[in-house]
Amino acid sequence: MTEPNMEFAPSARTLELAAKLSGFLEEKVVPAEGVYEEQVAAAAAEGGQECEEFHYPPVMAGLQAEARRRGLWNLFLTGEGIADRWGAGLTNLEYAPLAEISGRSHLAPEALNCSAPDTGNMELLAHFGTAEQQEQWLGPLLDGQMRSCFGMTEPDVASSDARNIQSRIDVEGDELVLNGRKWWSTGALSPRCRLAIFMGKSDPGAPPYVQQTMVLVPMDAPGVTVVRPLSVFGYLHGQGGHAEVHFEDVRLPTSSILGDRGAGFAMAQARLGPGRIHHCMRAIGMAERALELMCKRALARVAFGKSLAEQGVIQDWIARSRVEIEQARLLVHKTAWLMDTVGTRGARVEISAIKAAVPSMAAQVVDRAIQVHGAAGVSQDTALAGLYAAARMLRIADGPDEVHYMAIARRELRKWVGDGG
Ligand SMILES: Cc1cc2nc3c(=O)[nH]c(=O)nc-3n(C[C@H](O)[C@H](O)[C@H](O)COP(=O)(O)OP(=O)(O)OC[C@H]3O[C@@H](n4cnc5c(N)ncnc54)[C@H](O)[C@@H]3O)c2cc1C
Repeated sequence: MTEPNMEFAPSARTLELAAKLSGFLEEKVVPAEGVYEEQVAAAAAEGGQECEEFHYPPVMAGLQAEARRRGLWNLFLTGEGIADRWGAGLTNLEYAPLAEISGRSHLAPEALNCSAPDTGNMELLAHFGTAEQQEQWLGPLLDGQMRSCFGMTEPDVASSDARNIQSRIDVEGDELVLNGRKWWSTGALSPRCRLAIFMGKSDPGAPPYVQQTMVLVPMDAPGVTVVRPLSVFGYLHGQGGHAEVHFEDVRLPTSSILGDRGAGFAMAQARLGPGRIHHCMRAIGMAERALELMCKRALARVAFGKSLAEQGVIQDWIARSRVEIEQARLLVHKTAWLMDTVGTRGARVEISAIKAAVPSMAAQVVDRAIQVHGAAGVSQDTALAGLYAAARMLRIADGPDEVHYMAIARRELRKWVGDGG
């Protein structure tokens, strides 16, 4: 597992952007968290959870304007021919420390136009879209004028195995007819969500990995219904939330296919590589913020005659958290380096490894921080409850831990097949 010439030192560009980004987080984003919650609550009371302000309160527009002003917009796009044309020209390894910083606040990714699922959708459009599709959808997404969702997961089948997807794409003359029930379509609740990338079977008789196709579906197309919001541990997230969305006889021109017919599965894999590493980078930032809060609380709180920081068990939690974060970061940086040098396919095992390891690590660190805070840790008074929900759900979103461990084990076992061991 050791590759020659691994080089993780941050570039001058990364250092410059990391300093700017940390400043932005400290000065603007973290202080805006309370204002954001107030504005969202006020919007829900006045206009309900369907109104635009619930998903996009004024404070977010202000943060986005400031991020653009500071040159911190669309940093996520990496890869040859893509990063320079549409993004900030960064490699995955250069972006990793920046995404980590953005993970410290749930507001930062959207403020920087670097939030899922738009990032993955923009990557798909950049890699596979026609010039017309890019003009219609990629331009406005890059400009932050709209948002998008990705419809793969279905309530009726185990969607961690994408071969199970049941949604249908039938071709009638020069039209596509889409039918299917999707859920956990992140972002779909926002009135600003104007595009769904729909995964369905266009060729159910073909071999399993070439049955599926992706289609660009305007959210206002007849037959698209946002049925209900889904909560995460009871949180109904603004920022577009997560929704069940039904597609009933949605008719679109065949030019709405994204990439090639039958290439949906391969494109989903390509999309999930960067998406997964971005989640892991941000999860490290979540863990760092939790550790910082844990230390500050341990130093400030006195029980049984001494500060919590003087208790051996608390020191053990703090030390373990530091060790686990450092381990996770190194694996994430190695994975980013591999993606830059051998590509997403060549880094498949490492991508699975970080996706299985890092959200668990982050959830564990946040859990310790909650414990050190006592009852305050589960309340709305600190960022910890939200951080826990975010880290825990990441053990399922974009593939559950067990599926990633299965992929790693298969690869490991393959080395010894026929060896008689
Ligand atoms: C907050 C959030 C946001 C999401 N956003 C999106 C989105 O924008 N678009 C989208 O399409 N989907 C999205 N998802 C869905 C997510 O990708 C799926 O939930 C995930 O792929 C798992 O599919 P499933 O829920 O159908 O679980 P299932 O496939 O039913 O799996 C259930 C459990 O079975 C176990 N299991 C499965 N396979 C194995 C195995 N091989 N070995 C051992 N155990 C196994 C695992 O414990 C797994 O958790 C989101 C989910 C969440 C929670």
